[in-house]
Amino acid sequence: MSVSIPFDNSYARLPERFYASVVPSAASAPRLIKLNRDLARELGLDPDALAGAEGVGILSGLHLAEGSQPIALAYAGHQFAHFVPQLGDGRAILLGEVIDLKGKRRDIHLKGSGRTPFSRGGDGKAALGPVLREYVVSEAMAALGVPTTRALAAVATGETVVRDALLPGAAIVRVAASHIRVGTFQFFAARDDAEGLRLLADHVIARHYPDAAAAPQRYRALLDGIVAAQADLVARWLLIGFIHGVMNTDNMAVSGETIDYGPCAFLDDYDPAKVFSSIDRMGRYAYGRQPEMALWNLTRLAETLLPLLADDEEAAIAEAQEALAGFAPAFEDAYLGGLRRKLGFATEQESDLALATNILQALAIAKVDFTNFFRGLADAQAPGDGEDRLRAMFDDPSSFDIWLVTWRARLAAESQGPGARREAMRAVNPAFIPRNHRIEAMIRAAVDDDNFGPFDELNAVLSRPYDDQPDLARYSEPPAEAERVTATFCG
Ligand code: AMP
Ligand code: MG
Ligand code: MG
Repeated sequence: MSVSIPFDNSYARLPERFYASVVPSAASAPRLIKLNRDLARELGLDPDALAGAEGVGILSGLHLAEGSQPIALAYAGHQFAHFVPQLGDGRAILLGEVIDLKGKRRDIHLKGSGRTPFSRGGDGKAALGPVLREYVVSEAMAALGVPTTRALAAVATGETVVRDALLPGAAIVRVAASHIRVGTFQFFAARDDAEGLRLLADHVIARHYPDAAAAPQRYRALLDGIVAAQADLVARWLLIGFIHGVMNTDNMAVSGETIDYGPCAFLDDYDPAKVFSSIDRMGRYAYGRQPEMALWNLTRLAETLLPLLADDEEAAIAEAQEALAGFAPAFEDAYLGGLRRKLGFATEQESDLALATNILQALAIAKVDFTNFFRGLADAQAPGDGEDRLRAMFDDPSSFDIWLVTWRARLAAESQGPGARREAMRAVNPAFIPRNHRIEAMIRAAVDDDNFGPFDELNAVLSRPYDDQPDLARYSEPPAEAERVTATFCG
């Protein structure tokens, strides 16, 4: 069976300074760990062909598919607020782009593919653990309804990777609307490359914000579009308890998809100050700071666009400020709208924000599990229903008891009945999230024991996060004290 991928590589048609041509080199004896068959079909690819020897060779970078033009993308970025004028794909390559069955252009990208001209001191490789983590978490995010890059395949490369220990090497085939980052714009701005910047902006408009092409000020419309997409994305993160962990400008995609799953994690108990990433010593990217950090990144993006926003600098700055001022209301709208849905409100009342804030504060004080509280709340529509389970989540349930009365009083203003509301709440409050201790246990089983059972089971349960799955209910449990993950690491 021969593998055919109908590549149409628009980024490779941009000028050469946008990327470096490279040949992948990290696989010697590849073995398929998992192929995402549904995603393959969505891309118009034949999953059986991809799962065969030739397909696995292509997915691991050992062989090049016909029409593939492997390139490492150039970009810059602020890492923890420190500007680095050249980063780029140091261990990843874009194999090419395809048009999916819905007509959407998607990047097929291989991470863990060996050194590139942008590798600096790195080996260009990825270890098995981080590959499995990205696979599970990115697919879980998609199933949760959050815009994200996807995982098409995980492959063991047959190579050894040197980290603190010798680890099995792996690669992940990632699918994204594009891999263009805030840092890609910074790359050209840092070089005063006005032509490159304009070409990039026009490429992004054509690809992600086609409505901006017809706007009276197309680059302002582009910035408005990216601001809106990021505001919506970060609101969705907060609503499911996701912490990206390393929101550097090179890890923020202008498409509005979540990208670069490194030391990411999910809240167990609700805590706005929560940080897991071992490299985030100052708590810059804490759960509750993510909106502020997204705006910080967008401000860096706006700076790069100044030459395109108006002819004179003062006018350009005014345009940028107006666009950035759109972030807070867009975020607050999306976040409050999401909180209303989590609380079962189909209508809007002025007091809803206070009601939501009150319960979030109570969850923080009592260290209550964020996911399980809201899932359980769906079952507590009327006095006597399911409230004992919720009350048991609090050491001192007195503030919860008072809140429950106000919540139920607020529900009286809704025309939707309790049955329909329960279903609506269960459709936005997941039963299952990729819990950190489950991810760690899954990685240990794969790395230490070559046991991929937990990986498969985790993928299965997380593919239906809003469905009760009684046989797999243990995956909804918070960690026992000894299982609690306190730090996550980069790959
Ligand atoms: P990240 O923190 O994963 O977003 O990566 C930041 C930068 O470091 C990017 O330019 C990556 O391509 C590069 N990088 C990360 N890990 C490696 C590695 N093992 N080898 C080469 N470059 C890497
Ligand atoms: Mg080049
Ligand atoms: Mg990155």
